[in-house]
Amino acid sequence: MCFYSVVAAESGVPVDDMQKLVVIGAGAAGSAVVGECLRNAQSGQLDLTWIRGRQAPGRGVAYSTTAEHHLLNVRAANMGLFADDAGEFIAFARARGWPVEACDFAPRVRYADYLQDTLAREIAKAGERHVAVRLLADEAISVRGDDRAGYAVVSAAGERMVADGVVLAIGALPPTPLAEVTAAARAHPAYAADPWHWVPPGKVPERVVVLGTGLSAVDALQSAARLWPNAQLIAVSRHGHLPFAHNAVPGEPYEQQAALIEALREAPAVARWLHEIRAAMAESGVEWRSIVDGLRMQTPQLWRALNDDERKRFLRHLRWLWEAVRHRLPQQTANELAHLCEQMRLEIVAGRIRAIDVHANARNRLDVRVQLRGTSDMRRFAADLVIQATGFNLSIDATDHALVRQMVSEGVVHADALDLGLAADPEGRLLSVDGVPARGLRCLGTLLRGSIWECSGLPEIRNLAKAIARDMPAELREVRKATHSRMSMTANALVAA
Ligand SMILES: Cc1cc2nc3c(=O)[nH]c(=O)nc-3n(C[C@H](O)[C@H](O)[C@H](O)COP(=O)(O)OP(=O)(O)OC[C@H]3O[C@@H](n4cnc5c(N)ncnc54)[C@H](O)[C@@H]3O)c2cc1C
Repeated sequence: MCFYSVVAAESGVPVDDMQKLVVIGAGAAGSAVVGECLRNAQSGQLDLTWIRGRQAPGRGVAYSTTAEHHLLNVRAANMGLFADDAGEFIAFARARGWPVEACDFAPRVRYADYLQDTLAREIAKAGERHVAVRLLADEAISVRGDDRAGYAVVSAAGERMVADGVVLAIGALPPTPLAEVTAAARAHPAYAADPWHWVPPGKVPERVVVLGTGLSAVDALQSAARLWPNAQLIAVSRHGHLPFAHNAVPGEPYEQQAALIEALREAPAVARWLHEIRAAMAESGVEWRSIVDGLRMQTPQLWRALNDDERKRFLRHLRWLWEAVRHRLPQQTANELAHLCEQMRLEIVAGRIRAIDVHANARNRLDVRVQLRGTSDMRRFAADLVIQATGFNLSIDATDHALVRQMVSEGVVHADALDLGLAADPEGRLLSVDGVPARGLRCLGTLLRGSIWECSGLPEIRNLAKAIARDMPAELREVRKATHSRMSMTANALVAA
């Protein structure tokens, strides 16, 4: 689309009077924050550069699939990009005559069309109001503080930009192969470390092993089942549990939800929480999904109430369960997987991956060794394709993401205490090493997991995007003021010298 390659507006306002903002990343989070900032901007007051990477805006990891069978896992009625219009996507779908009802889980490829169309519209409207928007089809490789502006941003192609503020919307970090995979297996064409970009092998596989049983693993299983109807599919995870399914229609809200949340807040310990939630389920007889869904918007506050030991306990014992109940599958998808299991085409294995190496006797295959859960028994699978779908990579310490590496090594940002992402306050302000929230430097999306746990679904992303767009003008003014006073102090010092 033409909007995505041009400067949307020449404002005529002296550029120095405009607030300069750089948004990095153009998945759903980047789209939400850019959209909100454009909608919020006063005429001629914002000069926004959107460093969008190489993909078309809006697609990102979840919505770049072209497969119609990859469905949203949030109902269409709640997938509007903007916080004040959660129903916008369903209206968009209806206007195009797509067969999508409010309770349905639409194909993600359609959702990407909606995001792209919405952004194009917002950019065009911003142009009419003399708000400057520039899209850069490149990657940011460094962000650092700048004495003469708030921040300096450099792109891979060498373009240098200065800005009063920067928003990181870069999603999760690129996947890295599991430690149990040998160097030879990593380099083997049958090993796909990235579940979102894998190349089908030249020869039809007899057996495909998927590492993981979460949403990305389900995507991979669905695609493999369609591509190779005769292949045996194996999915391995520690608990061997696929995500639970949504009901056809959402259940009634739990009447005592507020009291339950209060009880959880008062006793921030995961064992206690499990007890309270189980008791609420047993006493009320209410459908468990209603209680889980009712916790969703309070998750950041609850997560922040836990100390690090309790957070670790949650990660060790409850994370898998929370992921399975919270990130549920559309019934259609769950039925498809159940059918594959009944036909013995899919086997779910509970166990730990112990080693993946090139097969000793069949060099074009991989040898996958799994220690079965709760036993010392091992199973071995000779696989023609192994797809690693073990969830988002968030380890800041281990990443080779160029921008994150640079920002961490120069102390601009740092990992949270459990290395689940970047240290930030609940509004996504990135923290300096001494814990002070940076002015004009925000993050939203999955990298906030350690700070607020829940910021990867669209409903949370759009709320934070709205808050960022609301707060940014005042924050950028402060950055500008601080920069000016720093510069005049330097000038005075020079004159005095
Ligand atoms: C299989 C799957 C299904 C999902 N389904 C749903 C769903 O139905 N509903 C829902 O609400 N959520 C869903 N999610 C969650 C999903 O992650 C979020 O909805 C949302 O897409 C996250 O967007 P994001 O922009 O934060 O991250 P991403 O989609 O990862 O986008 C980040 C973008 O930033 C780019 N980038 C990274 N570094 C740089 C750089 N240095 N310079 C420039 N660009 C950079 C990346 O290339 C990428 O394009 C799903 C997730 C998965 C994995």
